[in-house]
Amino acid sequence: MQQGKNELIIVGGGAAGLAAAVLCARNGLNVILLEQNDRVGKKIFVSGNGKCNIGNTHISTQRFHSQNPDFVEQVLQEYDAKVIEDFFHSVGLELIEGKEGKLFPMSMQAASVVELLEFAAQEAGVKIACNCVVKRVDSIDNHFTLETSQGIYTTHRLVLASGSVAAPKLGGSSAGYAFATRMGHTLVPRYPSLVQLVSEEPWLKQCAGVKLPGTATLFANGMQVTQREGDLLFTPYGISGLAILDLSREVSLHLAQFDYCELSLDLMPRFTKEQLTNLLLGRVDAKSQKPLSLWLQGVLHKKLVPHIVEVSKVKAKTESELNRKEIGKLVYALKHLKMSISDTKGFEHAEVATGGVDTSEVAPETMMSKVVKNLYFAGEILDVDGDRGGFNFHFAWVSAMRAASHISSQI
Ligand SMILES: Cc1cc2nc3c(=O)[nH]c(=O)nc-3n(C[C@H](O)[C@H](O)[C@H](O)COP(=O)(O)OP(=O)(O)OC[C@H]3O[C@@H](n4cnc5c(N)ncnc54)[C@H](O)[C@@H]3O)c2cc1C
Repeated sequence: MQQGKNELIIVGGGAAGLAAAVLCARNGLNVILLEQNDRVGKKIFVSGNGKCNIGNTHISTQRFHSQNPDFVEQVLQEYDAKVIEDFFHSVGLELIEGKEGKLFPMSMQAASVVELLEFAAQEAGVKIACNCVVKRVDSIDNHFTLETSQGIYTTHRLVLASGSVAAPKLGGSSAGYAFATRMGHTLVPRYPSLVQLVSEEPWLKQCAGVKLPGTATLFANGMQVTQREGDLLFTPYGISGLAILDLSREVSLHLAQFDYCELSLDLMPRFTKEQLTNLLLGRVDAKSQKPLSLWLQGVLHKKLVPHIVEVSKVKAKTESELNRKEIGKLVYALKHLKMSISDTKGFEHAEVATGGVDTSEVAPETMMSKVVKNLYFAGEILDVDGDRGGFNFHFAWVSAMRAASHISSQI
């Protein structure tokens, strides 16, 4: 299929591809959106547990990660949450703010985000080709040739919005990286982020299913790296929960360096060491024959008790046998439970990937390649990933808006 002068092909019908398509088509371009899945926006559909945490009102460069922070800073400039809200208002979707500045569709349904974006794209005249796998992209003599499962496409302007390798069941793919490198771009190594962690600690089997609010501190080769608060969820393979997802990026990077990674878990972050000591001391009845394990159930989930007793090496069998030193050991175990980490659950389970196309080769104001004219990038294909909380979508929307604005100014 030959394309005319004012035409644009976008590879990837995810967040960035859809937004870029809507905006370019509204500005008069004939847009063709190629998507390998049987429908667009599969990651959006499942995002935020089906509610889609679409953005965040507290945008700051600290919430994004890249080898090139200056690029992120320039891309984000003037593109705050208000710009995102206005864009979604224009497609008929109103947003509401939840905790920690998180933005959601007012419907609290991720499906409404996809359906309204898809409708806006079609309304603006975007031709959406689903089940269209782009297999190869060549850039020759100022135009691009795309070999796809539905034939050959050519165009003068191309947006690569094919996302990252994370979550392959939803369309995650490394194809876009291959297209970019073939055209002369370089890649920053990709690692899974916002992902569960694997541990071979034998005691985990008996604790599987326990979820509690806690604090996780990551140590790599004995040095403290980072600390996150939130849910801790013990699983048969290791550990999950929001605190764990939040520090998984650092774990991935350290494991890649063959560093020894260990978590120290505070199972009672609401109590300082002194408060917890006083609480436990106050519960000791010198005459009580209550078994120690039952006594601990007064403050801790039953499944965790045997391991806490084991690691604290407390000899007392009953409440009345406990002494101050043993209470100290119990408090230490409750606030510094150690867990070695052997791996992450990988791209298969990751929400995002670190790394991607090196952003030093992309102009931040326009998202156009500095290597190939009229080649644009948007979204997670680039070496930019964000924290949990809507930051990944924020980058996808903003990078798409920048690309669309520049492409539209060229016609
Ligand atoms: C389970 C889960 C939950 C998430 N929840 C949130 C959340 O609540 N908030 C948040 O901010 N972020 C969330 N994310 C991250 C967010 O979904 C991504 O950062 C975002 O979708 C990236 O947008 P993108 O357009 O760059 O890539 P994608 O949305 O992944 O879109 C890329 C598209 O390109 C297509 N594609 C790839 N290769 C080809 C090819 N060769 N030919 C044709 N098409 C191709 C893919 O099928 C895909 O549809 C979540 C991710 C997952 C996996």
